[in-house]
Amino acid sequence: MFSYTSIKEYHSFLGTNPDGCMQAVKHYIAAIEANKHLNAFLEVFADEALQRAAELDKQRTEGQTMGRLHGVVVSLKDVICYKGHKVTAASKILDNFESVYSATAVERLLAEGAIIIGRNNCDEFAMGSSSENSAFGTVKNARDTSRVPGGSSGGSAVAVQADLTMISLGSDTGGSVRQPADFCGIIGMKPSYGRISRYGLIAYASSFDQIGIFGKNLADVAIALEVMSGEDNFDSTASSKPVAHYEEHSHKLITGKKIAYFKQVLDHPGIDPEIKAATENYIQTLKDKGFIVEAINFDWLDYIVPTYYILTTAEATSNLSRFDGVRYGFRSTEGIDDLNEMYKQSRSKGFGKEVQRRILLGNFVLSSGYFDAYFTKAQQVRKLLSDNTATIFEQYDAIISPTVPAPAFKLGEKSDDSVAMYLADIYTVYANLVGLPSISVPLFTHSNGMPFGLQLMTNHYEEELMFALSNSFLAK
Ligand code: GLN
Repeated sequence: MFSYTSIKEYHSFLGTNPDGCMQAVKHYIAAIEANKHLNAFLEVFADEALQRAAELDKQRTEGQTMGRLHGVVVSLKDVICYKGHKVTAASKILDNFESVYSATAVERLLAEGAIIIGRNNCDEFAMGSSSENSAFGTVKNARDTSRVPGGSSGGSAVAVQADLTMISLGSDTGGSVRQPADFCGIIGMKPSYGRISRYGLIAYASSFDQIGIFGKNLADVAIALEVMSGEDNFDSTASSKPVAHYEEHSHKLITGKKIAYFKQVLDHPGIDPEIKAATENYIQTLKDKGFIVEAINFDWLDYIVPTYYILTTAEATSNLSRFDGVRYGFRSTEGIDDLNEMYKQSRSKGFGKEVQRRILLGNFVLSSGYFDAYFTKAQQVRKLLSDNTATIFEQYDAIISPTVPAPAFKLGEKSDDSVAMYLADIYTVYANLVGLPSISVPLFTHSNGMPFGLQLMTNHYEEELMFALSNSFLAK
């Protein structure tokens, strides 16, 4: 029976198995079918994936050179465009909408031989922390199906967690890759803002959004990052900085680096006592491994969630104004003979509750009477955080923290309390506010049986160091 550990081992398996890609794709199609109850996939591109596997097997056995992702099975969060395929952002408003072009990230995966197996369920328009806000049903955590997988990229996380794909793509605006990775016990990484082109990623908050990667091991994530990163004429925020050989760094063992953690993070009243204890013990382990780990002050912890929600909802309000019932997907027409009423009904019926809440909140913070009090203030806090981050990285190589203050919660537990849901983003939104690369590394297990991780951040465009440190942390 086919089993998967890493791209490297899969590629050596392909060397002796002329139908290896086909075996892999058949295996995943059956696994997805057998795990339908997890609701991780909105659509499986079965016939197409089988056909592509056959082509790749043929090319390889005929002696053509293999791409870096030859035959690698990948699934996409349903906010990433793949030409000729549906993309809905898990929203009714885009029901049956088909991508007219592919995201640059997708084009680059395909150019290196990847096989796209399907679309993953998520929170509607990537807004949420539990994958319960999808118009197409809740995603379940494979470790304990009474619990959430995290969000918003919950389907992509579960796809890797439950072995339904080799790697998957998510998007991370405030933690949507790292937090589900933490809840599912896998690796989830968001690169620096600008490392991967956002062309073809349905926008939530454009100055925060980044495509991120889920994987079972660091090297896989590093290879996928290498393939997707780099300059893009279609996204002026995509950096032209050279793309490093990230994989090489994902095998390095290093020590002696200076690592900071925020005192206020571990002293926060909302942190689960076991997560606090595990992180504190781990800090000692890191010191024993030869790292210099020091507590530093971070006085803004209570401001970062409000700042994040003010700025992201403001951006979302603008980004989502294009979904008006005219240009894309769903339109409400029944009994309507007035244009304004058509807009109103289409948006009221097409968007779910959480998306509507955020559009209202975003309009509120941008309205003339409140603009200075909320939006301008939040921009000032963001600037302050950026300046402070630069000062931290003058003295330290990295910052660590728990990824989330508590492990995966029960389905429905927080769905009626949006403030509690938002507050759980307290450790992840910082990296997006300042654009840092960040990764959640699965290191711990809670007494309730659920996994949790350690979050690591390095300075802008220091993904190499992030991978080397992660590998050193994971090494026994
Ligand atoms: N949970 C956060 C939110 O709801 C993060 C979402 C994301 O990163 N896409 O905004």
